[in-house]
Amino acid sequence: MDVLDLARPEIRTMEPYSSARMESRGGRFLLNANESPWPPFDDGAAWNRYPDPQPAALIARLSALYGVDPGQVLVGRGSDEGIDLLVRAFCRSGEDAIVVSPPTFGMYAVSARVQGAEVLEAPLRADLTLDAGAVLAAVTPRVKLVFVCAPNNPGGAGVPRAVLLRLAAALADRALLVVDEAYVEFAEAGECGSVAACIGDCANLVVLRTLSKAWALAGVRIGAVLADARVVALLRKIMPPYPLPLPSVDAAMRALSGDGPHAMRARVAEIRRQRAHLRMALIRLACVREVLPSEANFLAVRFRDPDAALAALRDAGVVVRDVRRYPMLADALRITVGTADANARVLAALGAVGTSAPAPALRAGQPG
Ligand SMILES: *Cc1c(COP(=O)(O)O)cnc(C)c1O
Repeated sequence: MDVLDLARPEIRTMEPYSSARMESRGGRFLLNANESPWPPFDDGAAWNRYPDPQPAALIARLSALYGVDPGQVLVGRGSDEGIDLLVRAFCRSGEDAIVVSPPTFGMYAVSARVQGAEVLEAPLRADLTLDAGAVLAAVTPRVKLVFVCAPNNPGGAGVPRAVLLRLAAALADRALLVVDEAYVEFAEAGECGSVAACIGDCANLVVLRTLSKAWALAGVRIGAVLADARVVALLRKIMPPYPLPLPSVDAAMRALSGDGPHAMRARVAEIRRQRAHLRMALIRLACVREVLPSEANFLAVRFRDPDAALAALRDAGVVVRDVRRYPMLADALRITVGTADANARVLAALGAVGTSAPAPALRAGQPG
């Protein structure tokens, strides 16, 4: 079976929009896109021209970085755009479905609901690790995409590569396995590393990568879909004509060149050190019930009295993510690992919080 047989048939046969920029290769006088003939500033930046829809230099850099062929890379506005394109290309409204493993990143379900696709759930195990058996059991003939966030947000658990590859093999000819590796750079080297290099062997394996976290470019909005070249070609057909602003492409190229990769590795090493330190220090605090093991740049922390912890942090000027609305995390806050200074503030604020859980009467209004 061809992996494209899983896609929406009307997308496979659709004639894509042909943009003026695609048709202008080799020309000297570009009078086909109704652009201004003059740039807005005299600093040499050709911002008067529409950008290359898929800039070759950026694709080349990303394909080398992730160890895949250029034809296996789709670059877009963050992995959020990749998630949306996958759902729109593979899920027919009112007919098809996706599988997610809650508690996990919310955008998979949001994109599916916008598209009119059903969201089936295969919850994580009680220790918040992936339950691959439950995922397989949730897959029906209507399921086209299975999303796994590895390491997972907001829990932080990594997923062993062997588990992901077995899952991809078990789903062959049935559904795409989409592995969201937004935090994989922060995973300790070893069994929970990237599966990007395996997409050549697994036509139904898709990997999402982003420059928003380890590469410190959240404001620049660049992410990549790594997949079988035919899947990438299909997604290119439904992508907006000029998704990537020139200043963003320039910023990404800067971060990925010269000293950029070295600086990224140094930042990641420091975050890992800070994560270990923060975790050990949090575990010793009286107000903390548990700190979930994390392969990402955040810690999910269970509190005896989450409201008191949140208030103490807020009073210290520290904003964290309240994840109590997620299943299995009804007492948890998610704390991003920051600078040594910021982390010290977290510990100081929480060190002053009492040890007792709130009286039962006060808990009545809280979500389960
Ligand atoms: C932050 C994050 C992303 C990154 O999204 P971008 O659109 O690339 O900024 C993707 N997936 C998960 C799980 C995330 O937490």
